[in-house]
Amino acid sequence: MAGFKGNKAALPSKTCIACGREMVWRKSWAKNWDDVKYCSDACRAGKHRPSRPVNPLAS
Ligand SMILES: [Zn+2]
Repeated sequence: MAGFKGNKAALPSKTCIACGREMVWRKSWAKNWDDVKYCSDACRAGKHRPSRPVNPLAS
């Protein structure tokens, strides 16, 4: 194992396409890392999308 130092900083990371936050590889994403595009369920649901029209009567 020469050369491997267990450097956790070497974990892959990518940017959430909804909020732009950096998200670092998680074990729960190991099987679908390539498909991960959002940092959270809220982002996946599009809650951060500014293009969504706001209903003034909703509140
Ligand atoms: Zn996000």
